[in-house]
Amino acid sequence: MNDSPNAGQAGRWGLCASCAHARVIASDRGAVFVQCALAKEDPRYPKYPVVPVRACEGYRQT
Ligand code: SF4
Repeated sequence: MNDSPNAGQAGRWGLCASCAHARVIASDRGAVFVQCALAKEDPRYPKYPVVPVRACEGYRQT
């Protein structure tokens, strides 16, 4: 998990911080949030997960 490029966000994002499906989005105002790429192909997953995510069947470690 610590090898993940988003490992520093583990406290805020939970599993999404180390998930291969996570995409990091930065807003114009400098806010950084996570988008779930799995949402495109599977409606069970929200495009913008409510973080921190503590349990997720789609999780795939980076
Ligand atoms: S699959 Fe689950 S853990 Fe992975 S980015 Fe989407 S919501 Fe987060």
